[in-house]
Amino acid sequence: MKHFVSQIIREIVIISLICAQGCSRRKEPLKETWLAMGTFAAITVTDQDCEYLDKYASAARDLMRELENSLSMFKPDSEVSRINQSAGESPVLVSDYTLEVLELARKYAEISGGCFDPTIAPLVKIWGFNGGRVPDEPLDETSVRSLLRCVGYGHLVLSGGSAYLDTPDMQLDLGGIAKGYAVDVCYRKLREMKAENIMINLGGNIRCHGTSRGNKPWKVGVRNPFDPHSIVGTISLTEGMAVATSGNYERFVTIGNERYAHIIDPRTGYPVRGMAGVTVVSASAVEADAMSTALFVLGIEESQGILNQMHDCHALFILDEQPLQIWVTHGFAQHFTPEPAFDNAVFELEPSPSVMR
Ligand code: AMP
Ligand code: MG
Repeated sequence: MKHFVSQIIREIVIISLICAQGCSRRKEPLKETWLAMGTFAAITVTDQDCEYLDKYASAARDLMRELENSLSMFKPDSEVSRINQSAGESPVLVSDYTLEVLELARKYAEISGGCFDPTIAPLVKIWGFNGGRVPDEPLDETSVRSLLRCVGYGHLVLSGGSAYLDTPDMQLDLGGIAKGYAVDVCYRKLREMKAENIMINLGGNIRCHGTSRGNKPWKVGVRNPFDPHSIVGTISLTEGMAVATSGNYERFVTIGNERYAHIIDPRTGYPVRGMAGVTVVSASAVEADAMSTALFVLGIEESQGILNQMHDCHALFILDEQPLQIWVTHGFAQHFTPEPAFDNAVFELEPSPSVMR
């Protein structure tokens, strides 16, 4: 928990540093920050919109609270908890938001060949995350394999406005998609309210509209996974675009002398090794969120085939090895400016691996 809070503070510092240039000369606040869905949330506007900041932030806060009440697996009476409690017994009628996010979760599970899986909860817990007890030693294959039977998005049945897990002991965990979805819901609402130049951020799931101060594109730093105080580069986001990052540094447990990250490979039941961070730029925050988790599992090689089939979905990978290497798809390179110290560490994935500059 302590680690988690300091992580949140660090993220706020990185993003605030990037916004600081735009905010410092104004008296009016251009950014409002609060806690939502177990992380920080922020709305940033530009001078033209600053008089509406309170209104936008309050609409976003209400929506995030509503979504958290429906989608959190930690709230015993949320819709997701009720679906979990009714697994193998009966379907549960759910709200339009819950139905939509479950449909999207299934879509990204299909696209990723099951590497993103919203029914991953039993495995996430057995490795000590999301309320599970941290095991004293690495789990053996038999106990992991026995839980694989309780995981599989194909067992999530959506029909007639209800959701059903058709096998007892299955559980939903929307931790890899719900925040991105919430950002899109807020984005749509704020656009209806005529917000022009705005950035919505929920725990690093970010979506922007218009431009930042001085008609410049909104900019987001990509954290150096090996140093919480530095970034490896900056992404420029054009209209309506979103970004999300999945990192092995965000949440992890230590078992024996080994660190295990919170993203589990549904094919093996084991936490993913070898990847430090994956950042995805996409046309929606829900896609950026789900796909950053999926690509983290898939690894660079397997991700490429999938990314080639997707429009507007671009990725950056940082391997968990030294010296630090940053691999970017061609589309990602168009948005990315590395920090000078990492200029020579950036490699483009398409069409064939080559040094970018
Ligand atoms: P993110 O930080 O968006 O990558 O989400 C990570 C969270 O998603 C974890 O803390 C788990 O709650 C959940 N999760 C872990 N592994 C997976 C997976 N393979 N597919 C979907 N969700 C996952
Ligand atoms: Mg995600």
